[in-house]
Amino acid sequence: MNRSGELCAGEPVLLIDRKRRRYLIDLEAGGEFHSHSGVLPHDELIGNPEGELYRSSRGMVFIALRPTITDYVLKMPRGAQVVYPKDIGAILIQADIFPGARVLESGLGSGALSTGILRAGAKITGYEIREDFEETARANVGRFLGQEGLSSYTTQVRDVYEGIDERDLDRVVLDLPEPWQVVPHAEKALRRGGIFLAYTPSIIQASQLHEAFEESRFGMAETMEVMHRGWHVQGVAVRPDHRMVAHTGFLTHARLLAE
Ligand code: SAH
Repeated sequence: MNRSGELCAGEPVLLIDRKRRRYLIDLEAGGEFHSHSGVLPHDELIGNPEGELYRSSRGMVFIALRPTITDYVLKMPRGAQVVYPKDIGAILIQADIFPGARVLESGLGSGALSTGILRAGAKITGYEIREDFEETARANVGRFLGQEGLSSYTTQVRDVYEGIDERDLDRVVLDLPEPWQVVPHAEKALRRGGIFLAYTPSIIQASQLHEAFEESRFGMAETMEVMHRGWHVQGVAVRPDHRMVAHTGFLTHARLLAE
């Protein structure tokens, strides 16, 4: 859901303290946020616009904002390792996700990538082999996108290596160990011109996937990675951040061509 206006009970809100520590809370009438810096009643926030300052019982100041997808993905409960926001952004563009697109996604893990794809307006059929991860993914999607998001999210507990039932899909998006096993199934399930994209932590996996494309109707295969380097900008102290996430994964995509 893309909320605006006053903060309401039932929605997630981010509290940020002076040290930029972030806390994700779900607003509830009568609820309280407890931390080492005292108590902040949710009722003080409900009905206010975003960006206001609040003071806890022990005098700690917080700013309340709706979480962006980046805030949310980094704070939500994780079962499996999530796809990082920098990669979610690139996946949406490389896989050319569009409103109404029919996407097969597997595996679902914690639902971070699902949240991004749904937010871009696509409809997902999700295959996840583990029941607990299917539940985690649905819970995480629902908490951020509400019923509206869940209504475009059909999930099944099943092994995508065994086949895909859907036909005429626009996109197949994968985050699992052996994406090459899905190539023959995706050939049948995608429409022509459809896009296959896989996220893989290792370049060996990307290379094996390219080999599978060679034996298939997929062409235009490309692999890339996204490097995101933040900068510290304060007065004359202007330099790259000392720390960065140096490696997450590779994005490999290809398009389904004629016989
Ligand atoms: N992209 C997810 C993380 C996925 S982690 C996120 O952003 O949150 C990889 C997931 O793939 C795990 O949940 C695992 O259970 C699932 N998986 C592995 N092999 C699978 C298979 N053959 N079929 C379906 N799901 C599979």
